[in-house]
Amino acid sequence: MPVPPMQTTLVLVKPDGVGRALVGEILARFERKGLQVVGLKLAHLGKDLLERHYGEHKAKSFYPGLIQFMSSGPSVVLALRGLNAVSIVRGLMGKTFGKDAAPGTIRGDFGISDSFNLVHGSDSPESAARELALFFGPGEVLDYPQGNRGWIYDVAAELS
Ligand code: UDP
Ligand code: MG
Repeated sequence: MPVPPMQTTLVLVKPDGVGRALVGEILARFERKGLQVVGLKLAHLGKDLLERHYGEHKAKSFYPGLIQFMSSGPSVVLALRGLNAVSIVRGLMGKTFGKDAAPGTIRGDFGISDSFNLVHGSDSPESAARELALFFGPGEVLDYPQGNRGWIYDVAAELS
């Protein structure tokens, strides 16, 4: 069976995740699931970039606080690749508010806050394409073989 088509999605470990030293814990969850890290950097995100990223929320009451929070310290910017990567990442993140998110999810296990909810993940393949282009320049998202792919996608031919 050939390896199915892959999606690539944009994930941010937000300033609370970096500040609380949860980067390794959060990244490990995505890696253990079988998603491949194809882009990774630490960046203190500027307000201009964040306003473009969160443009859909511009009219919302929480928007000014969101931009303030997200520009308050560095974030880890990730491009993660895998089958159904967009929805898999959203599932691993959990519901938006920590107080509602299920145990076992990142937001459910590590927080209670509405705003400081540790992670962002693109909500559709279209959003992922738009957001990846915002946060990564040419050559910053890499194609390379995923060593454990045979186990993750039951490609028997790759196990021998
Ligand atoms: N947010 C907030 N208050 C709200 C709703 C959202 O502070 O009432 C923040 C929160 O950090 C959230 C981000 O705004 O992650 C974007 O909101 P969205 O509804 O897109 O949630 P997400 O896609 O991150 O689950
Ligand atoms: Mg969203």
